[in-house]
Amino acid sequence: MDNSAVNQVVILGGGTAGWMAAASLARYFEGRQAQITLVESADIGTVGVGEATIPSIRDFNASLGVDERDFIRATDATFKLGIEFCDWRAPGSAFFHPFADFGQPLNGVAFHHYLNRLQGEEAGQSLEDYCFAVQLARRGRFAQPHEQPPTPLADYGYAYHFDAGRYANFLRQYAEARGVIRREGKVTRVEQNPDNGFITALHLDDGARAEGQLFVDCSGFRGVLIEQTLQAGHEDWRQWLPCDSAIAVPGAAMPEPTPYTRCTALDAGWQWRIPLQSRTGNGYVYSQAFVSDEQAKQTLLKQMAESPLKDPKTFRFVAGPRKSIWEKNCFALGLASGFLEPLESTSISLIQTGIAKLLRLFPESGFHEVDRAEANRQHHHEFERIRDFLVLHYKTTQRSDTAFWRHCQTMPIPDSLAHKLKLFRHRGELVQMEPEAFEHDSWLAIYSGMGVQPNHYDIRANKIPETALTDELGRMRAMIAQAAEQAPSHSAFIRQHELDR
Ligand code: FAD
Repeated sequence: MDNSAVNQVVILGGGTAGWMAAASLARYFEGRQAQITLVESADIGTVGVGEATIPSIRDFNASLGVDERDFIRATDATFKLGIEFCDWRAPGSAFFHPFADFGQPLNGVAFHHYLNRLQGEEAGQSLEDYCFAVQLARRGRFAQPHEQPPTPLADYGYAYHFDAGRYANFLRQYAEARGVIRREGKVTRVEQNPDNGFITALHLDDGARAEGQLFVDCSGFRGVLIEQTLQAGHEDWRQWLPCDSAIAVPGAAMPEPTPYTRCTALDAGWQWRIPLQSRTGNGYVYSQAFVSDEQAKQTLLKQMAESPLKDPKTFRFVAGPRKSIWEKNCFALGLASGFLEPLESTSISLIQTGIAKLLRLFPESGFHEVDRAEANRQHHHEFERIRDFLVLHYKTTQRSDTAFWRHCQTMPIPDSLAHKLKLFRHRGELVQMEPEAFEHDSWLAIYSGMGVQPNHYDIRANKIPETALTDELGRMRAMIAQAAEQAPSHSAFIRQHELDR
């Protein structure tokens, strides 16, 4: 244990993680004496991808006091109501995972039980008919929730698609305006206290030395401090998440950007399509065991609806978390803290929850083992919960047309996921163990979209007489459809939003 107050922080890395950390720490120390230095190397550069987010990004921007219109203009952003999954259940299938609930509980019983009750009796009922966000998305329209829950027209969230490089620049301006010092240079040596192994300074290639008490490692996949120096270790989850590569190509802008990300299952993985205002992000996440880099590239180029703007770029990764994100006086964020494929756009949100942990457990009175242990426990928990949600998408496929999908159907799954899946299949029960990034209705979206049906529904759903129930459902559906028809198109909304200042 070291009891000295910490107010001298060095951040290594100027990607999304580094500048998110710098902006948050500048805010944290506002009005107090502190020295925050960020070291980055233009020669090394950033990963240069990462365009889709989940709604918690809005809380992050709000925590900094950022105006949404300034943010949208600066980052080329569009709005995101969720993800459309195409060809996952079977070729030709499509469903949405919206940032929203489906229907509303009636008499305290979750909505999907009523639909399950009617399933045998009334064909053609879909959960998506009871979700305003899906109905907006299907029509290419967008509206911000302006009423208060519990009305179905308010019960949804939204996120953004944006240019992560521009977002980092935007946050850089914010952080520098609040006193963060940026140092350009490549770290060539990490100086450590010989007695306890704590990092004392970073040596740069120009001979400069950046000294600090706390070091935040945002150096990307390299993990210069957390791994190369402190050897925290990395878990390998490829037995559950077999994709280990990605190829990305920006394409021209869509004439009408969709208010959602599209994830399309391909022969050996899946393709993302992310609309920004001035371009479209495209990529293929795949497993090298099932497709070569060259085949993956050709498939992606063939699949792209928009013309490519740059040469394809390939990435390699290993699914799994860093074994610990807090070692000695080093706290890792972003890619340095672990990686899960971007199927549900979780990496930037994990930077955000990492920062939240750092600030909540900040070593104000020096470094304490109990803080470190808690940060590492929470980190592991978060990664495991997201992992299970991602594995669900693969495991429940009904595709058997390629070796990759046959592998996904038969691969073992974590016990925690097996339990959830079994319980849902048995009685439609949705469970959550501790707070999770994806809550009940997100799981329901995937179960339902992938065709996982419960054998039984909650018997209390029988208490409403059938005609009263069908009337109520009809009323709900009509209200949602009518409101969705009246909403502006996504592009009209963006234009109007920018003018409304
Ligand atoms: P990087 O961007 O790699 O930044 C590392 C920084 O460290 C750079 O500034 C570099 O110069 C610096 N650095 C490294 N070594 C040194 C050194 N020795 N000396 C000095 N500086 C050094 N996330 C999402 O939320 N949504 C998505 O849709 C999404 N899609 C993705 C698709 C792919 C294919 C991949 C690989 C990732 C995706 N991500 C996505 C993740 C997202 O890109 C990252 O979480 C995010 O960009 C943060 O990266 P980073 O800042 O941790 O690392």
